[in-house]
Amino acid sequence: MKITIADKAGFCFGVERAENIVLSTIKNKKNKVYTFGPLIHNPIVVKKLKELGVFPVEEEDLQKLDKNSTIIIRSHGIEKKTLIKLEKMGFDIVDATCPFVKKAKESAKTLYEKNYNLIILGDINHPEVKGIHSYTDYNGVILKDTDELKTYLKEKNNRVGLVAQTTQSKELFEEFVSIMQEKATDICIFDTICNATSSRQLSAIKLAEKSDVIIVIGGFNSANTKRLVEICNKICKNVIWIEKTEDLELEQLDCYEKIGITAGASTPVKSIEETSQIIQNYYNGKVNKNDE
Ligand code: SF4
Repeated sequence: MKITIADKAGFCFGVERAENIVLSTIKNKKNKVYTFGPLIHNPIVVKKLKELGVFPVEEEDLQKLDKNSTIIIRSHGIEKKTLIKLEKMGFDIVDATCPFVKKAKESAKTLYEKNYNLIILGDINHPEVKGIHSYTDYNGVILKDTDELKTYLKEKNNRVGLVAQTTQSKELFEEFVSIMQEKATDICIFDTICNATSSRQLSAIKLAEKSDVIIVIGGFNSANTKRLVEICNKICKNVIWIEKTEDLELEQLDCYEKIGITAGASTPVKSIEETSQIIQNYYNGKVNKNDE
């Protein structure tokens, strides 16, 4: 049996930065510190922060909080109206929004201000997408697949602009671009998919091509992890999605020789190492480990 870990897997720059912002905030501030929503979509990290006294709060909790509290904006950002509300309520705000998410918001705002018919490729229910949309005053449409795009372009096919949720599939983004090039005129496109997302996707594709089974580690609510699962599913017949090492049922691996492990951008590297180690222990040394 051979275990291979994807060369790009686990914590990305934006998630690491957000975690460091929380740790330095609790060190330097005397008041109570909260995150607006979970800081990142990973239950292990959220649990660790709770143990340090940093709890996630939602909009409905705000009235109950001491107004001297510090609220940290999560890595995937919040809607403009929510930020204004937090400011008006007098909270001390620390912004841990990933710079790549901010760039996506600015790109959408630019297209809207230049009167493009704006398309946001993304998941309508994801907080990052809601945040991007809010910076265009909720103008433009959020589309999730090429069928929706083709239908939209029947109505509006001139001066069309495109941005994407930072964690979207690169492949789908490129399909959007080629359809727009074919069916629309005066188009303007900002590729706002972040490097961490695209490099993890490429690395997962390479790994899936040479594995009998792929284990993807990451929160079930993590958009970039879901995307890795979808990508691996297209290439490898056997994909196991777990949130944490303890969720892995080791006997499932009995029939495989080549095991690949990858993880979403919000998964601590420690979880990847633990998962690899637990497999090696279970098979009692009959495993070769390979880092890509
Ligand atoms: S996945 Fe990309 S956009 Fe999201 S937090 Fe990480 S670096 Fe930022």
